[in-house]
Amino acid sequence: MPSRSSAVTAQPVSRLIDELSKLPGVGPKTASRLAYHILKTPRDDALGLAEAILEVKERITLCSNCFNTTDVNPCAICTNESREKRICVVEQPLDVVALERTHEFRGTYHVLHGSVSPMDGIGPDQLRIQELVERVGKESPEEVIVFTNLDLSGEATATYLHRILTPLGVRVTRPASGLPVGGDLEYADDRTLGRAMTGRREL
Ligand SMILES: [Zn+2]
Repeated sequence: MPSRSSAVTAQPVSRLIDELSKLPGVGPKTASRLAYHILKTPRDDALGLAEAILEVKERITLCSNCFNTTDVNPCAICTNESREKRICVVEQPLDVVALERTHEFRGTYHVLHGSVSPMDGIGPDQLRIQELVERVGKESPEEVIVFTNLDLSGEATATYLHRILTPLGVRVTRPASGLPVGGDLEYADDRTLGRAMTGRREL
């Protein structure tokens, strides 16, 4: 049984544990378990993991139109002509993944990379909001759906977007109720997300 005491943990192993424990949701115990698992893993599998990490860092960038993560710029969603002229605004790239899984939305996305939160010093200028305004002017979408989280800063973002986008003549909507209040959209199940998308309301 390996000991977690640093005196008996070989330096490369403790380095791996340190790196793994920086991941979200991974405490020191899980980090040790993962490190020793990798240690036992065949060399090719371990290399596969290391290469996958390198590849996302080297090949993934942000789409210059919607700011979702992509390996081609503009991304496959932005260049898909069969997509509807509706823009769904989300906080994070993971929200796009969750909404695409529901198959309830056939438009394009715009990823803000956060939400307006004065308490954390995050104002509209730190988010991709100016780029959204430019897109709305250029693309004249039928609708902008503000799919930010149902927490304080998500609501503040929705209110702000409504105020600046409505004068541009675009319909601004918000998902129907039923989403987890105060929680991240990525934790909502597919059916809940899909229902919220289909039953949206005017802001
Ligand atoms: Zn894009």
